[in-house]
Amino acid sequence: MKNIKSMLPEEIAADFQELGLPKYRAKQVFRWLGRGVGSFEEMSDLPKELRRRLGEEYAIYKPKVIGKQVSKLDGTIKYLWELYDGNAVETVVMSYKHGNTVCVSSQVGCRQGCAFCASTIGGLVRCLEPCEILDEVMFSQLDSGKPISNIVLMGIGEPLDNYDNVIRFLRLVNHPDGMNIGMRHISLSTCGIIERFDDLAALDLQLTLSVSLHAPDDETRSKLMPANRGRGVDALMNACRRYYDVTGRRISFEYAMINGVNDTEFHAHLLAKRAKSVSAHVNLIPLNHVEERRFCPSTQGHMKAFIKILEDEGVNVTVRRKLGGDVDASCGQLRRKMQKAEGKI
Ligand code: SAH
Repeated sequence: MKNIKSMLPEEIAADFQELGLPKYRAKQVFRWLGRGVGSFEEMSDLPKELRRRLGEEYAIYKPKVIGKQVSKLDGTIKYLWELYDGNAVETVVMSYKHGNTVCVSSQVGCRQGCAFCASTIGGLVRCLEPCEILDEVMFSQLDSGKPISNIVLMGIGEPLDNYDNVIRFLRLVNHPDGMNIGMRHISLSTCGIIERFDDLAALDLQLTLSVSLHAPDDETRSKLMPANRGRGVDALMNACRRYYDVTGRRISFEYAMINGVNDTEFHAHLLAKRAKSVSAHVNLIPLNHVEERRFCPSTQGHMKAFIKILEDEGVNVTVRRKLGGDVDASCGQLRRKMQKAEGKI
């Protein structure tokens, strides 16, 4: 059966035409799907016979909340969803002054193998369908009652390793008859799958591309991030430059500060040079401690000295505020915990 929630209204309309159904029904159905219904039966303004017929042609899946943690510190909510095949992914809802941001996963697990990240420990299980990513946004909003205005693709998985489904998700969530979230309110984060940068730039989506840099030199970066091996920081910078030239959108470098690993003066100066070469903004993240990983967050002293070097060099730098410190809000942590509790690992 076809998965109707991953289809755009134009595609539903074309399908309906083939089935001999009136085209205008497509918009009606798409709107219902955007309200989070779990079956055609709930589409109360469709004729009964049509609902039955659609139920035979198409499937509608809906994720189930199997974990929910609410931070006592700042209200950050972390959801663990069960998907139709029993797999689980995480979503985080964060509240800022300017609105609510949802952080979505794009894959079940991840195959990129970053040394500090919890999401990748069990490898990649599968890619998420476009509608499964959409459901993370939609059901976070429905369950929490918080209207979502911003999306970051910074949960479990590498979005550019699930390129087609992620692009389709973006078109679905951005659609005026759907959630209608503007591309300028969406950030896509990548560990640097540069083979996709030109494709993404050509789409001219106006979203923000975040690059998880974490080290400005090949030696450190290849140790931390296997995705750097065989690609290299120079090639990554060239890809960033082209992306910026084509889209005019400033790239953001994510940089998790790891004590004694990537937070020395050498790293700060080289990072400043790299950032300036592609007009990138630098977002420093205090490393979240992951139980299975041996790394520690940088000390306050290291952070301060690092920031000063960047600022003195004229780099646009911010430090990410830590939210949800009490709810395992770092990538993949909640899913790992559940798997452990169930004796799966
Ligand atoms: N695969 C994508 C998106 C998912 S991770 C990417 O690599 O960008 C979202 C961000 O969290 C990335 O910048 C990632 O490197 C970072 N991250 C992963 N584990 C972390 C940890 N323990 N502490 C701080 N940041 C972490």
